[in-house]
Amino acid sequence: NFLPRSGLTRLSGSHTGRVPVGITGRRPRIVVTGGAGFVGSHLVDKLIARGDDVIVIDNFFTGRKENLVHLFGNPRFELIRHDVVEPILLEVDQIYHLACPASPVHYKYNPTNVMGTLNMLGLAKRIGARFLLTSTSEVYGDPLEHPQKETYWGNVNPIGERSCYDEGKRTAETLAMDYHRGAGVEVRIARIFNTYGPRMCLDDGRVVSNFVAQAIRKQPLTVYGDGKQTRSFQYVSDLVNGLVALMEGEHVGPFNLGNPGEFTMLELAEVVKETIDSSATIEYKPNTADDPHMRKPDISKAKELLNWEPKIPLREGLPLMVNDFRNRILNEDEGKGM
Ligand code: NAD
Ligand code: UDP
Ligand code: UDP
Repeated sequence: NFLPRSGLTRLSGSHTGRVPVGITGRRPRIVVTGGAGFVGSHLVDKLIARGDDVIVIDNFFTGRKENLVHLFGNPRFELIRHDVVEPILLEVDQIYHLACPASPVHYKYNPTNVMGTLNMLGLAKRIGARFLLTSTSEVYGDPLEHPQKETYWGNVNPIGERSCYDEGKRTAETLAMDYHRGAGVEVRIARIFNTYGPRMCLDDGRVVSNFVAQAIRKQPLTVYGDGKQTRSFQYVSDLVNGLVALMEGEHVGPFNLGNPGEFTMLELAEVVKETIDSSATIEYKPNTADDPHMRKPDISKAKELLNWEPKIPLREGLPLMVNDFRNRILNEDEGKGM
């Protein structure tokens, strides 16, 4: 399918708010790398529901076919098992680049952020597609500015245990901006703050999935350090709406996409107890190295330029993931013959 490029309709200039018509006047075709993962699969659901053609590229490193199985058989959906560290040839209008080992237990030693992003930018350049990078609040490191605005350059340890992720995403942002300035690629950069919801990896060590799974399994909630460090937690549907607004808007970014509601880990544990099991106990464990002390997005820029803000506070969002977690934990236990 290596057509000559001259017939392509570029998306530039089509800022109507609705997805512009794609190559040769048909429905837009959209790639979601990492689409079998937590955020990606919710994004794919939204795009399919409104009538787009969606191709998912995923190597199932942390993603699961189960997240997409309800779309198998849909003629507008395609799933390709592929590692984005290797080049790929496709013809599409938009690329949402989410592929990345996204949690501390998975992301070490993996070059996806740099090599995968380079390949997807090369692809976007060749076919004239718009490219959206899912960067992270981790680019701010252990921030000395609070809340964090997009203008803040961050406080990142370049040789620490987390640096593969932080610096990997910082490099990915650099690459995206270089392709934008140097090759005219239409890029969009989202800096995503901690996000939770159904289909989160059960065992990737993130705090919301840990606490929810622990409460369901009647295990103590593991609070690292003194539990006074803060995070701001966003429900996944809010994030997905923000990503689509960013892709279809006319601004490159970067944009913070997060919920400014800020909680200490002890407060989060309380909300999990209220939601799932008031008798749950807390177990303190040593914290990980270079753990950011606090994090909270300033989202004024996204509010003003993307007309986007999150709608679902933590106390409303947490209950929405509990059934999904219960079912998966039950299935796991049955699988083990328990
Ligand atoms: P996830 O682990 O559920 O999804 C990542 C997906 O990428 C998985 O399906 C995985 O199999 C796939 N993948 C990983 N390496 C790959 C490779 N080399 N080739 C092809 N596919 C590959 O994580 P998520 O929470 O859905 O995160 C999605 C994106 O959002 C990531 O880029 C992450 O850095 C970013 N992000 C997420 C959060 C959050 O709180 N969830 C916060 C900040 C940024
Ligand atoms: N690439 C890709 N698919 C494409 C075009 C490029 O995977 O359709 C990869 C390509 O293999 C290279 C990267 O993207 O590793 C960067 O491509 P670019 O053309 O920008 O750089 P060059 O190949 O000239 O170094
Ligand atoms: N954390 C915790 N208990 C856990 C997992 C994480 O107290 O079981 C803490 C962790 O030390 C950090 C915060 O929760 O301060 C958020 O961690 P997570 O890995 O979810 O996200 P990130 O550090 O990437 O923001």
